[in-house]
Amino acid sequence: MTLTGKTAIVTGGSRGIGRAVCIALAEMGANIALIYAGNAEKAEETLRLLAAYPVQAKSYCCNVADFDAAKATVSEIHKTFGSIDICVNNAGITKDKLMLSMKPEEFAAVIDINLTGAFNILKQVYPVMAKQRSGKIINVSSVAGLMGNAGQVNYAASKAGLIGMTKSIAKELAPRGICCNAIAPGFIATDMTEAFQNQPEVMNAIPMKRMGKPEEVAALVAFLASPMADYITGEVIRIDGGMAM
Ligand code: NAP
Repeated sequence: MTLTGKTAIVTGGSRGIGRAVCIALAEMGANIALIYAGNAEKAEETLRLLAAYPVQAKSYCCNVADFDAAKATVSEIHKTFGSIDICVNNAGITKDKLMLSMKPEEFAAVIDINLTGAFNILKQVYPVMAKQRSGKIINVSSVAGLMGNAGQVNYAASKAGLIGMTKSIAKELAPRGICCNAIAPGFIATDMTEAFQNQPEVMNAIPMKRMGKPEEVAALVAFLASPMADYITGEVIRIDGGMAM
């Protein structure tokens, strides 16, 4: 229980990787404030799973792309929990198509949630952690942000942007003992990748010949959030079964 008494914000905590992250952090003793976009049933399901742990957990419906909503939500979380020690920017969407047919609004929607959404949350979290002189920020990027991907101009740009944001914040906040890292998952079995599951061309691209599990990604996030990773900052860690090496 190395995170006992700490509070974690997990965006996109209602489903998939975010839900697994909430559970992994609660297993280590952290209180959980999860943010979701609108799927209240799934958020409730995550809260029910979190009830198995002796931690405080609450869900917040908030569109991270909306600066004022993010500001109000983080402020409410800070008031309710008393501190913000871990922030996992995990909320994300895809709107895949080749650039030729990608509409400007499809590019903007993905950037607004995946990249600006992380900025909006961190804009509020940053001063809290800076004042505390402690904190862990983990941004969920993607191998698409490292390698690019045909059909994902918007998504890859948002995830590459998150890496630049991660390294910049790491440099700004390192003197205050705050770590900011990114992770770059490959294909993980969630709603987002439903269409790709068990596709031969996907399996062929993964040296380990299987998709990752949300729990495997969550274990990496939990490690980065823990004191075991106190000297790691500005790093991007792939978790992809060897896909992008
Ligand atoms: P998912 O199952 O589709 O879940 C997406 C989560 O993000 C949901 O909790 C959703 O809330 C939330 N969300 C979406 N838009 C939001 C918004 N505007 N404001 C607040 N929350 C919002 O996705 P996932 O596969 O777990 O992916 C999680 C993260 O990992 C994403 O950033 C994704 O890009 C990244 N990633 C995933 C993979 C993969 O293979 N799955 C690989 C690399 C990176 P609702 O439930 O309310 O809709």
